[in-house]
Amino acid sequence: HKEKNQSAAIETGGEDALVGNVNKLMVSPPGYSGAPRKGHLVFDACFESGNLGRVDYISEFEFDLFIRPDTCNPRFRVWFNFTVENVRETQRVIFNVVNFSKTKSLYRDGMSPVVKSTSRPKWQRLPAKNVYYYRCPDHRRNYVMSFAFCFDREEDVYQFAYCYPYTYSRLQHYLASLERRNLPYLQREQLGLSVQQRRLDLLTITNSGKSLPEKEKKLVFLTARVHPGESPASFVCQGVIDFLVSLHPVAQILRDHVIFKIVPMLNPDGVYLGNYRCSLMGFDLNRHWQDPSPWAHPTLHAVKQLIVQMNQDPRVSLEFYIDVHAHSTMLNGFMYGNVFEDEERVQRQAVFPRLLCQNAPDFSFSNTSFNRDVVKAGTGRRFLGGLLDDTSYCYTLEVSFYSYMTAGSTAPVPYTEETYMKLGRNVARTFLDYYKLKSKSMPVRCRKDKNPQKTTMSTGY
Ligand SMILES: [Zn+2]
Repeated sequence: HKEKNQSAAIETGGEDALVGNVNKLMVSPPGYSGAPRKGHLVFDACFESGNLGRVDYISEFEFDLFIRPDTCNPRFRVWFNFTVENVRETQRVIFNVVNFSKTKSLYRDGMSPVVKSTSRPKWQRLPAKNVYYYRCPDHRRNYVMSFAFCFDREEDVYQFAYCYPYTYSRLQHYLASLERRNLPYLQREQLGLSVQQRRLDLLTITNSGKSLPEKEKKLVFLTARVHPGESPASFVCQGVIDFLVSLHPVAQILRDHVIFKIVPMLNPDGVYLGNYRCSLMGFDLNRHWQDPSPWAHPTLHAVKQLIVQMNQDPRVSLEFYIDVHAHSTMLNGFMYGNVFEDEERVQRQAVFPRLLCQNAPDFSFSNTSFNRDVVKAGTGRRFLGGLLDDTSYCYTLEVSFYSYMTAGSTAPVPYTEETYMKLGRNVARTFLDYYKLKSKSMPVRCRKDKNPQKTTMSTGY
């Protein structure tokens, strides 16, 4: 047991178990006993999707920050999201995030944390020149990300995060605003509840009534946020929804011919808690598709049951399953698909990503890959790829936490909340091209693939 405990301590990157978030923690110099002063920074992560487990005072100008590991799973420490207040004007600090669980990171390629403050409520990425990522002789030779920041307004509360947050409440507000529009082609239902009794929402978008009979329609199933720290997936998903409920002529045609079923947040507890990869009980839900338990993985269980049931229903033609993720080491949007013996099926599977590559300047077909990794066997893409018949396609759609390369560009373009949503809109409209093409059964070639970045097998999803 002793050995086991030791390795657990090493894994969490600290002797002290980090179980909770810091709560309005004022960090004053050690031994200081006077009245609190301006400049004694107050750190807080006790809010939705917040994550900061510990702060060590190094000097007046430097602080070590510890990510709070995922609940019930100390292996994952990537997402952080916290506020700082009680700052002095022109106070310059260096924050060192010292206990990342990953070594490979887009911080090497210019990624930086995002920041906003009370008087500047729009999230921005910090300048890359203020960010350093290096292997540190302290902290068990862990990789450390340091960033310099200059506070400039004493009354502001500053918030820093790994990437643009997208919380459970934000989704609830968005879905409620959609519902208030009383759109005849949009239905919202509660598919189930999470362990902590949060809603598992399901949207159905289609024109019922005067259009095609339901049984002649294709069904596209989309899920996002099985990995809670992958907030870009929510922006992509909202982009898909925004497009599909819009008055855009392409959206109107799609609603006539396709039924879209969308589960925008597969792991609402993990998102709420500020985890990176796991559910409340420490499960990576994207490794449990084979046998989800109704009590330990209730949201996954409910989604799987629905898909299995639709697959057995002769009136439904389930053609696509797409699970949206964000990737911590690759650039661009890209997809993972499955491996088949049948060459013709392999070619058919490549059609959608090729079309998406034509429609979305940030999507790369050359980064798209098809694999049968053993460790991915419990993912939605792999499990459903085995379950559904050979006219269905299952993909993981990945989007970089950082940036994309466009045709002819030399420097990566960092993603914003808007460009993530735009990728979602492009995914949605690609279904029109797909179904038009399919009817003509025309082969397609991607005309403008621009990023010859080498595809690597990774564990990012
Ligand atoms: Zn993922």
